[in-house]
Amino acid sequence: MNSGPDGGPGAGAGNGTAGIGDGTLAVRAGLPEPVQHEPTLPGPVFAAHYHLSGDPTGGYAYARDENPTWTLLERAIGELEAPGAGEDVETLVFASGMAAISAVLFSQLRAGDTVILPDDGYQVLPLVREQLTAYGIEVRTAPTAGDAQLDVLDGAKLLWIETPSNPGLDVCDVRRLAEAARARGVLVAVDNTLATPLGQRPLELGADFAVASGTKMLTGHGDILLGYVACRDAELTASVRRWRKIVGAIPGPMEAWLAHRSLATLQLRADRQNANALALAEALRGRPEVTGLRYPGLPGDPSYAIASRQMRRFGCVVSFTLPTRARAERFLAALRLVDDATSFGGVRSTAERRGRWGGDDVPEGFIRFSAGAEDPRDLVDDVLRALDASAE
Ligand SMILES: *Cc1c(COP(=O)(O)O)cnc(C)c1O
Repeated sequence: MNSGPDGGPGAGAGNGTAGIGDGTLAVRAGLPEPVQHEPTLPGPVFAAHYHLSGDPTGGYAYARDENPTWTLLERAIGELEAPGAGEDVETLVFASGMAAISAVLFSQLRAGDTVILPDDGYQVLPLVREQLTAYGIEVRTAPTAGDAQLDVLDGAKLLWIETPSNPGLDVCDVRRLAEAARARGVLVAVDNTLATPLGQRPLELGADFAVASGTKMLTGHGDILLGYVACRDAELTASVRRWRKIVGAIPGPMEAWLAHRSLATLQLRADRQNANALALAEALRGRPEVTGLRYPGLPGDPSYAIASRQMRRFGCVVSFTLPTRARAERFLAALRLVDDATSFGGVRSTAERRGRWGGDDVPEGFIRFSAGAEDPRDLVDDVLRALDASAE
């Protein structure tokens, strides 16, 4: 239903969106046809059920299955993940990123199947691994870097990719892995949380599923939890939809509407935050107390070569290590413009000592830094000042 500049009336969801710029795409994503005296983006529809007489023959019936506010958001995300694909790509929204991830894993895998997870991915994956194993699913792991998951593909049902990986920021070649998986009949899912659909498009790189937490940069204000699954195959989508119905991990209409509203600024936020991340990485490169500096968009970074081939934006997360835990804690306490908080992707910069969680294999002084939308000079100045202030 996008009536984008080259779409025209009646263009249909996602049609006419190929080739237009990301900013235009973002501000118009998922908008319904103009209706006289109606708002551009209709407000949230609060309903548990809808009027329904006679046999249910499609359309809105019960709100665990469908909601008009989700429908618009799902179209919007689909247009961003696969511009121009129209009805060929279906998107399903969930209550959180983990709800979306679990929906793909648990709808596709059966006892006796094998799944390949990254061993350096999101910190809840080890818990997921325990649960999968308890259900009789074999879990193999391999690192993201060097496309190491290739070596354990044989006989698997599903390959789970997270690139750039969180928090290590390693990158793998999605197209190469997806081709190898396809040749062996292995399904491919890519966690697109860190990159966002404006950073990379997993479905175009050959994945069956693009899955993400919308809690991070996609919505960008640190005030809602959301997840989604975008998929090009109708049967696969139907099985994920069935799982959502069974588990009921659905977003509230208010969250869905806020998310849609937030998408309009995605390109502005992403461009500013990515530029800030790069500026920060460049400023940190010269500091003697900083080791293990990683940013996929920094020339010379181990991820840079592949990232610049498959990504259109490199994300807002920078990671680095300070000499000790105490130094890292003093650094975080000395920051004035950066909140000490977990998560990433918000318009306000955040940073944390990742080791405090205990789940990631990182040094005690490891900092995950999420660049916000502050003025670049203010942000870099604050970080360099805090580094100075935290020296013994
Ligand atoms: C945050 C995150 C998730 C989980 O998302 P929630 O919305 O917190 O459930 C999954 N994958 C990655 C890479 C994440 O950063």
